[in-house]
Amino acid sequence: MADPQADRMAFFTTPRRPRERRAPQERLGDWHEVYREGALLPVIGGQAARCMDCGLPFCHRACPLGNLIPDWNTLVARGGWHSAAARLLATNNFPEFTGRLCPAPCESACVLAIDSDAVTIKNVELAIADRAWEDGDDRPQPPERMTGRRVAVVGSGPAGLAAAQQLTRAGHTTTVYERADRIGGLLRYGIPPFRLEKHRLDRRIEQMRAEGTTFRAGVAVGRDVPADELRARCDALVVAVGATACRDLPVPGRRMPGIHQAITYLTLANRVDEGDRAVSPLTAEGRSVVIVGGGDTAADCLGTALRQRAAAVTQFDINPRPPDRRSAGQPWPVHPKVYRVTTSHEEAGGSAAEPRVFAATTVGFEAGADGRLAAVRFAEARPGDRRPRPGTERTLPAELALLALGFSGPGRCRVARQLGLAVDRQGRLARDEDFAARADGVFVAGDAGRGQSLIVWAIAEGRAVAAAVDRYLRGSTDLPAPVRPSDGPLTA
Ligand SMILES: Cc1cc2nc3c(=O)[nH]c(=O)nc-3n(C[C@H](O)[C@H](O)[C@H](O)COP(=O)(O)OP(=O)(O)OC[C@H]3O[C@@H](n4cnc5c(N)ncnc54)[C@H](O)[C@@H]3O)c2cc1C
Ligand code: SF4
Repeated sequence: MADPQADRMAFFTTPRRPRERRAPQERLGDWHEVYREGALLPVIGGQAARCMDCGLPFCHRACPLGNLIPDWNTLVARGGWHSAAARLLATNNFPEFTGRLCPAPCESACVLAIDSDAVTIKNVELAIADRAWEDGDDRPQPPERMTGRRVAVVGSGPAGLAAAQQLTRAGHTTTVYERADRIGGLLRYGIPPFRLEKHRLDRRIEQMRAEGTTFRAGVAVGRDVPADELRARCDALVVAVGATACRDLPVPGRRMPGIHQAITYLTLANRVDEGDRAVSPLTAEGRSVVIVGGGDTAADCLGTALRQRAAAVTQFDINPRPPDRRSAGQPWPVHPKVYRVTTSHEEAGGSAAEPRVFAATTVGFEAGADGRLAAVRFAEARPGDRRPRPGTERTLPAELALLALGFSGPGRCRVARQLGLAVDRQGRLARDEDFAARADGVFVAGDAGRGQSLIVWAIAEGRAVAAAVDRYLRGSTDLPAPVRPSDGPLTA
């Protein structure tokens, strides 16, 4: 979309300006989002103008949702907020989540990033999303007519929510079942409030209610309602139960008190934020903490432990320290593994006071006189097989160890058993290229089928599974299907 008024050379004249964060010391004193409220709008037009409208928008290809990035960059650069919101909401049900939480593979694929700094695409997305709520552009869209078909969605993470919103808007009577007491999946009880304040999730759920989606929290399908019975009561069923089976660490001492799965720790901290408890029974306050793992979950544990006033926090990452810039093996436009300082690492002191020990493998846990965890034994991980290098073993005092080793799939899932669903070799629920599982009228979406992934993939799968369900129910569909189950990120 060419715009004669936009500064066509802004990518030369305007430097990339990231979103302004509050000072780390201020952030550690509360649980609010780390970014400075209102700081984005005054600068975002100039940032959007840095888009070259290059004609080969790899950013658009790298986004699983197929977000129309160059279009909204141009619109925001010239103040066309309403049109930008319409373009964004046409491809993304929940841009207020991705604008805050997506790792932005689109920016790694931005043509400007070949030899300069990428456009701040994620921030432009967030600015449009937040303004759309303020301006009333993101309002409920109830269906014009009902189809008379009933759909059950099991699981209320981003995949289940996106599927439900699409299906309700298409006129199907849609009910979301969630075993937890609140709706939202990992958006609710995994990701901490300093990265996503939960009123944003509540607002979205209210909008979905206003459109006609029904929510039934505190109902574990397979236990409280047999899955086959639920399937018989509706015309189609979407299984979006996530990948909730945590990987474990089978080393000596693993079962002693003081060692917990990261998700248990984060869920309890989120419950304090929800007002369910005054203090988490697993608080890090005054304790020396070791976090085992190198991903988002580990970083969230770090930020949480720092806010709980831990005495010390160390994070073991089994991988060697990644390079600062993309290496030859990770060429543009792939999303590279590079050294990143997350906001939690910044709060720990940044690279000057690095809380991470790279290439560290945990070999055992030691108990104190009271039988509780007192120390973690670790060693240098050999490159390649990651086994402990002989002679490098050390001990670090710790009263709390958090295992953030990822998730393997939905685990022993009654829903799958009762519906006779197949499980693949990686422990994921099997589905065909139309998201259809082995049982008739049953579909699988999100981490349950893809394995541990990202919010943007979960939303994309939710949209695509809704299209598959609509086609199953009506014989054809107008709903968009941005991804197939076999699609993955850009690779070299
Ligand atoms: C701590 C943490 C931080 C993360 N940070 C990021 C991030 O910054 N950016 C990003 O892109 N991704 C992040 N992720 C990954 C992202 O959250 C997931 O990929 C995404 O939530 C998957 O969505 P989903 O809908 O498939 O599953 P989930 O969000 O896992 O939702 C599945 C839901 O199904 C429910 N359920 C399961 N079984 C049943 C049943 N039998 N009956 C009823 N309900 C059931 C579960 O209780 C759960 O609420 C993070 C993950 C974690 C754990
Ligand atoms: S959803 Fe993620 S990949 Fe897509 S435009 Fe937004 S930040 Fe980029």
